[in-house]
Parts: sequence; C-alpha cells; structure tokens
Amino acid sequence: AGRLEGKVAVITGAASGIGRASARRFAAEGAHVVVADLDEGGGTALAEELGGLFVRADVTSADDVQAMYAAAIERFGGLDVLFNNAGISPPDDDSILETELDAWRRVQEVNLTSVYLCCKYGIPLLLEHGGGSVINTASFVAVMGAATSQISYTASKGGVLAMSRELGVQFARQGVRVNALCPGPVNTPLLRELFASDPERAARRLVHVPMGRFAEPEEIASAACFLASDDASFITASTFLVDGGISGA
Ligand code: NAD
Repeated sequence: AGRLEGKVAVITGAASGIGRASARRFAAEGAHVVVADLDEGGGTALAEELGGLFVRADVTSADDVQAMYAAAIERFGGLDVLFNNAGISPPDDDSILETELDAWRRVQEVNLTSVYLCCKYGIPLLLEHGGGSVINTASFVAVMGAATSQISYTASKGGVLAMSRELGVQFARQGVRVNALCPGPVNTPLLRELFASDPERAARRLVHVPMGRFAEPEEIASAACFLASDDASFITASTFLVDGGISGA
C-alpha cells in the first residue's frame, strides 16, 4: 500500500511546479487528490490524469476557499491533508527601496492571507475527521537573510512560518499536525521567471547552494509526501528545510 492510501489531500497551486509534482506523488501513494488552482486548463488535465478532482479556486478569496473544501468533501467525504502551496514571486524589483505598496499587498494576499484562509476554513474539517496534516509552503528565505532583495516575498514567507508554528502548537493535542515546508530554490516556472530577466542572478544564487544545483520539484514533493503521511506522526510545528544545505552553510 502507498504512504497515503485512501487519504484525501487538497493541494493549492497544484497546476504547476511543486504543487503538480506533489499531486502526482500523492496520487501515486494512494491519495485522492484535489487539484486547486486558478489555471483551469492545467488543473483539469492534471486532475484527469490522476483520477482526482479539479477545483478552480482563488486562494485569496474566502468564498472560493470554502467552496473548494465543500467540493472536496462532496466528492471524497472528508479531508486528511491540506497542502497550502499556492504562491507568487513578485516579478519586478522587490527591494525595500523599489517595491510599491500595491505589489507588497498583493504578495501578502497571495502568499500569506491565503494560508490564513485555507487554515481557518480547513482545520475545522480536519478536526471533524479525527485529525490530519497541514503543510504550508514557506521558503528558506523565511529562516535566513538570503540577500535576495525580495522584501515582500521574504516577509510573506516569514509570516507563513510563524503561523505554522503557532497552529502546530495550538492543535498538537487534537491530532492536527501543522508544518512549514521550506524549500531552497526549485526548478519551476516561478524560479525561471524570476531569473529570466537577470540570468546572473541565478548564478549568484547557485553559489550559495552547497549541493551546487537547484532542486527538482519532485524532491520537494517527496518531503511534502512524508509530512503528509503517518511516518511524520511526531512532527509538528516544525521548520522543515529541504534546501540542498543552504541554511546549514
Ligand atoms: P509555480 O508558479 O510553478 O506554481 C504556483 C501555482 O500557484 C500556479 O499554478 C499558479 O496558478 C497558482 N496560484 C498562484 N496564485 C494563485 C491564487 N491566488 N489562487 C490559486 N492558485 C494560485 O510556483 P512553484 O515554484 O511551484 O511554487 C510553489 C510554492 O513554493 C510557492 O508558495 C512558492 O513561493 C514556494 N517556493 C518556491 C521556490 C522555488 O524556488 N520555486 C522556493 C521556495 C518556495
């Protein structure tokens, strides 16, 4: 049997990158996967491939998030795993001296308020179902000064990390584990877009990765799968770094 046999998992931002690799891995491990994303084309195709359910949801909308969970429960009967993975990277200059207030607010909305909403409406459903696992995607930048000059992004991920620890402690005795998954740089469209305008930036970033390469999405998906599974039964409120050694160097 797979590691996630029969578990119902909602993955946000599942149509691309880390989310898509995780949807595939979770399904391969026996989970019923709910693919939640703004991208209808990619999301529908993936859900079909996996025998899962696609839900079009903007994770910054309380209505969409509630409808997403309602659709998941209607189809699969309950929830066991919430992987709050949707996120954006600001495309333009996100240094404190350059970034505009509107861009800052948008990043907080998509990266941080989304996690607030998905936990607020999702954790009660896990409690009703006897417990579960929540995985929130933060980043290595949440735990170290990474000199990325991405202030909105870094602040949003710090918020995700702090919220995950707080919730992990709050629900520890009720069977809901909450962990912050902190990837290093991962080879996804998000990263490729960030480096497209400035290829030297990629080279500078690579220097700081002891393994000398970026992660593939599947390597983050395997960590998410572990945290989602009962193999991680004593792991909660953790800062789970999957970063090729960056934060240890
Ligand atoms: P990606 O751009 O490949 O995928 C993100 C997905 O989220 C897309 O399918 C997009 O449509 C979806 N999305 C964006 N806004 C949404 C919204 N409002 N509602 C619903 N869906 C929305 O990115 P990725 O690299 O796979 O990133 C996934 C997560 O990992 C993000 O939270 C990102 O910040 C984080 N992360 C990425 C890296 C990296 O180097 N790629 C490193 C650390 C953390």
